[in-house]
Amino acid sequence: MRWENLTADSGHSRADSALFGADAVVTRTFDTPEFAGITFHEIRARSIVNRVPGASRMPFEWTVNPYRGCSHACVYCFARKTHSYLDLDTGLGFDSQIVVKVNAPELLRRQLASRRWQGEHIAMGTNVDCYQRAEGRYRLMPGVLAALRDRANPYSILTKGTLILRDLDLLKQSAEVTDVGLSVSVGFVDPELWRTVEPGTPSPERRLDVVRTLTEHGLGCGVLMAPVIPFLSDHPAQLRATVRAIAAAGATSVTPLVLHLRPGAREWFMAWLAGRHPHLVRRYERLYADGAYAPRWYQRRVTRQVHELAQEHGMGPARGGAPRRVREPEPPARASAEPTQLSLL
Ligand code: SF4
Repeated sequence: MRWENLTADSGHSRADSALFGADAVVTRTFDTPEFAGITFHEIRARSIVNRVPGASRMPFEWTVNPYRGCSHACVYCFARKTHSYLDLDTGLGFDSQIVVKVNAPELLRRQLASRRWQGEHIAMGTNVDCYQRAEGRYRLMPGVLAALRDRANPYSILTKGTLILRDLDLLKQSAEVTDVGLSVSVGFVDPELWRTVEPGTPSPERRLDVVRTLTEHGLGCGVLMAPVIPFLSDHPAQLRATVRAIAAAGATSVTPLVLHLRPGAREWFMAWLAGRHPHLVRRYERLYADGAYAPRWYQRRVTRQVHELAQEHGMGPARGGAPRRVREPEPPARASAEPTQLSLL
């Protein structure tokens, strides 16, 4: 392990100075194969509960994100753009320069105890994955969940990480005292596509095992079927296989979401597409000619197909119940210092 302590007087980088009010930045690397090539920027954040900008149509108002950047490295991740606010690279930098808010649990406990806090729902995993690999080492989520449980504060988690099962007991304890919504993201089950487009994530099969385990323990879990990737995972047979696997895992709901290509993600995804599937580049340029979103007719078609398949298996879209807080996002009105957007987790 290598590490160095960088303070305001020690010639720190532009990235370090951009770390949103951090008092100090400790930069570490670890020699274990799991963290090869990854640099962690440990900071003591000044605030951990973030309000979603008022203009946003996100289905939640408050978020907690202990990390920024994500070693799950999904090519399409549209949280990539958020790294540019830290003067960090939105491509490989997003995958390998991870900001860790090491004081997240204690800060959250303090903020929840504030008289101004009204006990509103808190969404996690909305920007980057709170159960990404770094969590195995930093173990911030047990403290976060304990703080929420002790205040009986409702919350939801969206993840691709199997590590969430480590915190099963805390999730169950929380669910006894408050509303807990759990969702796992599985956009497709094609193993070849997974290896290339979501290279740092647990396989779809292992993610569905998470759904199965949570369900067996009485914690209802929905699936955000995201992203459905045009021309790569949207064939009716692929949609059918994915929905069938989701249903077999016992998911309470399935909510499809077609790929978005916002700035930051768009460049990275299109470069990947040109390398892996060059024959699709023109088709993508046409499909996304109007901006970050596929045309409405395309989104409606995919949504209808998935809903019909889900109905065959007795599942519906998320609504009312536990995993209800995952819905299709609208583009953010503008960038903020601590942006919140669904990252297609
Ligand atoms: S889509 Fe989610 S899991 Fe994938 S890199 Fe982005 S934040 Fe991480």
